[in-house]
Amino acid sequence: MVKFLSSSITVLVMTIAATHAQTQTATTASAPAPATTTGATIKYPAANQIPPVDSPEVQAWLKEIDLSGAPKIQLHKGSPPSCPNPPIPDECYWTCDGCSADDIVSCPRENTWGLTFDDGPSPDTRELLDYLKQQQLSATFFLIGSNAAQYPDIVKREVAEGHHLASHTWSHHALTTLTNEQIVAEMKWTEKAVMDATGLRLKYMRPPYGDINNRVRFVLKKLGYIPVDWTGDEFDTNDWQMPDTMTESQVIKTFETSLNDYAKTNRSTGFYCLEHDLNSLTVGVAQKLIPLGQKLNISIASVPVCQGDAQPYQAGSTAPMPSISGVTPNTTVTATVSITESGASATPSVTKSGLSSGAVENRVSSGAVLAMVGAVVAGLVLA
Ligand SMILES: [Zn+2]
Repeated sequence: MVKFLSSSITVLVMTIAATHAQTQTATTASAPAPATTTGATIKYPAANQIPPVDSPEVQAWLKEIDLSGAPKIQLHKGSPPSCPNPPIPDECYWTCDGCSADDIVSCPRENTWGLTFDDGPSPDTRELLDYLKQQQLSATFFLIGSNAAQYPDIVKREVAEGHHLASHTWSHHALTTLTNEQIVAEMKWTEKAVMDATGLRLKYMRPPYGDINNRVRFVLKKLGYIPVDWTGDEFDTNDWQMPDTMTESQVIKTFETSLNDYAKTNRSTGFYCLEHDLNSLTVGVAQKLIPLGQKLNISIASVPVCQGDAQPYQAGSTAPMPSISGVTPNTTVTATVSITESGASATPSVTKSGLSSGAVENRVSSGAVLAMVGAVVAGLVLA
């Protein structure tokens, strides 16, 4: 499904124009304010494209880390990638094997819905922020870096209103298809865009399409990032499937079933959902899904609240650590990434919360969905 964002940031001149094509309801974003801080013009790579790795910025970032111990796992192919056949030993590929290594896949707090939104900011994010403010709720926003560069005002507002920011890469490409250096470029440009807007250095990230293996984890750890997946298919709201393959009422009904099942059986651990602040449809349905959880007395919280992390940004932030509503001070981070130099995480674990076939994080063309269905029929699993 969907929406390949195509936009461009005109370097230096900084006329930034963007078009978000979302399914059949293509919307065109108005030209945003230039991404500037203190009046200075900032040069960013082209939006929604993998940033070049030969730029002075990326070369400097690469000098700061040692990638020589990265697992030598061949790059996957496809967007999103198809599962390797035969499987690659020890790659611990979440989307195909359900192998999560030390990724965060559930909210450790009991009876808690870890509320997350991916792919923003978009113009429709403002409506969602209005709603969350009215409901006195905080969420984690997994930002696309080039969108953050395009809408720094929304990014600033998210922080000001007590939400938590995290990374969803610069261009939303599947990370297992990128080289180690490209992954660095995707993460660091996103980090820079958010730093430029807020002074905060991101610490948590969600891989586009949930596409992550031990090579990707190794690079992410070198950059200080903690991956956050989501708690399995049942907590993918499928909002991204609207309007092509699911109606709003289908999305609501399906997720309501998941919430009811959770409330009946498993309140001892919380969950992370998959939702998007991508367009008016996903923002609209979010305002219908959240009350379903509230009706069941399920607490709703951002990632740092779930993880009990009072330091939800990396050292090196130039702004004071913002207070996150609901985080108990002086608590420790409960999640770490423990990929060794050799790249092998501890024994890869297959969790019941891993993805199965139909889960596509987002942004798959209609053709790709059809291809995916075919792959699923063929016994393959994509995300
Ligand atoms: Zn996404």
